[in-house]
Amino acid sequence: MLLTFVIIGVIPLHIFGYILLNNYEDKAINNKFSQMQEQIFMLSNQMIPTGYLTLVDVPEIDAEINRVAEVFNGRIVIVNRNLNIVEDTYGLYDSNKYLVSKEVIQSFNGNSSRVHDKENHYLILTKPITLTTENQKVVVGAVVMNSSTRDIQGVLNSMEQRALIFTLAITIFVVIFAIYFSSKLTKPLTQVVNSIDRITDGFMGGEVSIKGYSEIEKISDSFNKMISRMQRIENTRQEFVSNVSHELKTPITSIKVLADSLLMQEDAPVELYKEFLVDISEEIERENKIINDLLSLVKLDKTADDMNISVLNINELLEQILKRLSPIAKKQNVELVYESFRPVMAEVDEVKLSLAISNLIENAIKYNVIDGWVRVSLNADHKYFFIKVSDSGIGIPEDVQDLIFERFYRVDKARSRETGGTGLGLAITKNVIQMHHGAIKVYSNDGEGTTFNVRIPLNYIA
Ligand code: ADP
Repeated sequence: MLLTFVIIGVIPLHIFGYILLNNYEDKAINNKFSQMQEQIFMLSNQMIPTGYLTLVDVPEIDAEINRVAEVFNGRIVIVNRNLNIVEDTYGLYDSNKYLVSKEVIQSFNGNSSRVHDKENHYLILTKPITLTTENQKVVVGAVVMNSSTRDIQGVLNSMEQRALIFTLAITIFVVIFAIYFSSKLTKPLTQVVNSIDRITDGFMGGEVSIKGYSEIEKISDSFNKMISRMQRIENTRQEFVSNVSHELKTPITSIKVLADSLLMQEDAPVELYKEFLVDISEEIERENKIINDLLSLVKLDKTADDMNISVLNINELLEQILKRLSPIAKKQNVELVYESFRPVMAEVDEVKLSLAISNLIENAIKYNVIDGWVRVSLNADHKYFFIKVSDSGIGIPEDVQDLIFERFYRVDKARSRETGGTGLGLAITKNVIQMHHGAIKVYSNDGEGTTFNVRIPLNYIA
């Protein structure tokens, strides 16, 4: 983040400065060449009519040439048509000397030339002196003019210095700004990371509270939601484990008490042994039932996406279940009534759904009164099928109606134990219905019977 800030903030500034300085230099050099050209033009105009180029001594023109050379901090050399040096402001050559250079020769062909010697900081402009007669132009001489560029260089250097100070100041500002901002932005993220590390190390809890940036606030909110959900799952898990151990221990404790009391009596009669062994056998059966229920529940949890879906005749399924449960109903003289409004075919997991509905009907029989009734009905619309299990039983108090679907929850522990209940049946039922993307609702008044309504989609959606 720091690097990005610096790159975005500083690099364009440097590029911009470089382009600006280069542009200035080009403009200044061009400008200087134009000024030199103007001066040469004026000097040429003075020279031609006086015969200066034919070596006539004109002190005013000499003075003018020297003045111009001084202004430009350079040198002016004038050559006539014979390549004789007419004037050299440095005084190094006189009219006995000739100046023959590529640029001078080009001048006699009518061409000017410009040279910028960057290394030694000067410009050379070579221009022809032309005499324009009525119908033609004749080159009668040439001017070679040098000019120093040290003044331009001076301005350029001071501009460079100022630009450097400016960009340095901006760079320092951007770096400070970037450090401040990146630490401000990354601090909340570091907090989240620390909390995740704490959780990874096994410590639950400790919410993150971040204010300021809405996106990071959202992260912390989602994170806190996730933590509280994980805490809830962890609490449920711990509660479930402690319930499981308690439930599994109860029959074992009874078995131990029964066995110990037999062992303590030296000459216990055979009848007593038999009686106690019947009790022990019942406790073992109960332990077995709890383990089986637990296994079904664990299996349902584990294979949440492992549904064995097939198209099934639900009427037949309900009839089979009722047939299987009718002996238990007969024992209590409970009447089983089945009502089907229409034939229903649906995509379901046969084994799981059969277990879920069996649990509901079994409960309706178990928690009923002698000579009571259980009514099972099946109906459907274009989207769902509905199973209703009503009974004339003992009912469920309103305040615990939400709790009956919890694992191991029983309204009346003694009665449930008597009837061989484990408190896992409705948890299994709800789980199965949810796996079918359905819903279950309970309606009951204490002492006035209970109704369970189940709704499941006809077509299974994976
Ligand atoms: P259990 O194995 O104890 O029957 P369930 O999970 O099937 O466990 O049911 C939980 C509790 O809900 C039962 O112990 C019982 O108190 C109550 N219950 C369930 N079905 C009925 C019903 N049809 N009538 C009255 N109470 C019921």
